[in-house]
Amino acid sequence: MSGDNLLDVALVRLDDAARHLQIDPDVLEKLKYPRETTKVRLMIRMDDGSRKSFLAWRCRYDDTRGPTKGGIRFHPESDADEVETLAFWMTFKCAVMNLPYGGGKGAVRIDPRQLSKTELERLSRAYMQAFARIIGPDRDIPAPDVYTNSMIMGWMADEYGQIVGENSPAVITGKPIALGGSLGRDDATARGGYYLVRDLAQDLGLGLQMRVVVQGFGNAGQFIAKLLAADGHKIIAVSDSSGAVQSPAGLDVARLIAAKAEGKSVTSLIGGDVSALDPDALIGVDCDLLVPAALENMIHEKNAEQVKAKAVLELANGPVTPEGDAILAKKNIVVLPDILANAGGVTVSYFEWVQNRQGYYWPLEDVHRRLHEIMVREGRAIWQIAQEKKVSCRTAAYIHALGRRASAIESHGTQTFFNS
Ligand code: NAD
Repeated sequence: MSGDNLLDVALVRLDDAARHLQIDPDVLEKLKYPRETTKVRLMIRMDDGSRKSFLAWRCRYDDTRGPTKGGIRFHPESDADEVETLAFWMTFKCAVMNLPYGGGKGAVRIDPRQLSKTELERLSRAYMQAFARIIGPDRDIPAPDVYTNSMIMGWMADEYGQIVGENSPAVITGKPIALGGSLGRDDATARGGYYLVRDLAQDLGLGLQMRVVVQGFGNAGQFIAKLLAADGHKIIAVSDSSGAVQSPAGLDVARLIAAKAEGKSVTSLIGGDVSALDPDALIGVDCDLLVPAALENMIHEKNAEQVKAKAVLELANGPVTPEGDAILAKKNIVVLPDILANAGGVTVSYFEWVQNRQGYYWPLEDVHRRLHEIMVREGRAIWQIAQEKKVSCRTAAYIHALGRRASAIESHGTQTFFNS
């Protein structure tokens, strides 16, 4: 599989699921290609007066079930293939959760850590200026992703409002609360995964005191560590892009989070009970639950054999390759797949969009209750498909989503779809 692009690898999952359903081949053909991907070059003024340009993309993969929905990533290695693949995953994730959305994604090829705050704001506004014609509350709704956050979403929402001449908070989710963000959006991705693990713990053979390893200690990684630690589980190893640390007795999650808030790496805690760990050895640490929460393709044919966890909770998008999946399946390690496990983020983004359109804001308990209800309902449905059809949870999740997507395509009328 190496050498293939990321989207081709992702499409393997679609083919796996299609074998279990009677799907019109035209419908499958439609799902193999993004509807539109726009590439632009953003030119911004730097603080020293010079001008610099950065490549940027927005992909609207499929809007059969509603406006396209998906985050914007700022990363030095982003490219069109990555953006289209992430948009493909969003298409399926929204269908898994039965949200009235299609899938989209965006990116800027940049290391945002090298920009000042004012440069970052100019870049974020330039992104919205470039894509405002395809973005909109009923067309395409961005959100945060890797190295973007609520502050950036706020700048983008403000820029969009200026372009269209009216306040339009539903154009983007993950905004600051002051600009119409939803309570509970900050930890929604991790919380969704946490509800899922809690509900399926017995079926997965997970005990009351799990040993947990978290790869990637950003938004998703920090919140899952915090939620699980609060329930008495032990976080025994974590990593970020600078290194990894471990403590068999359990790491102090509050101190790790405080270090990250000060801009330091998790490795700044090394000393006493906390020892350095080779980041490549992290996934091989003996534990009950392994949580990849960094980037794609981290568990693959060359390292999956090392995994000793009972279950893997994919908070990152695409952290396990198809070859990695096959090895984990042979070892009887259950993978709770990204399109279900990290779908809490887009679900609360959906809640934010609903609240913006209603102009009526929900208390935190309502957000948590509704998220819990959806995660458990869809998680259970997928678990049941996996048991009945004797397939992995990933294939079951794709079967679940593909059935919903296919019926939406057919309901639109195939002649319009395939002639246009
Ligand atoms: P983030 O930018 O907040 O954090 C990413 C973390 O990964 C950082 O701590 C970074 O240091 C670390 N990292 C980067 N490269 C690494 C490496 N090679 N090894 C170990 N750690 C590494 O991003 P996030 O929002 O937490 O997103 C993480 C993953 O979760 C991504 O795959 C993203 O697409 C996915 N996701 C996020 C959300 C969300 O709402 N934030 C929703 C769905 C999916």
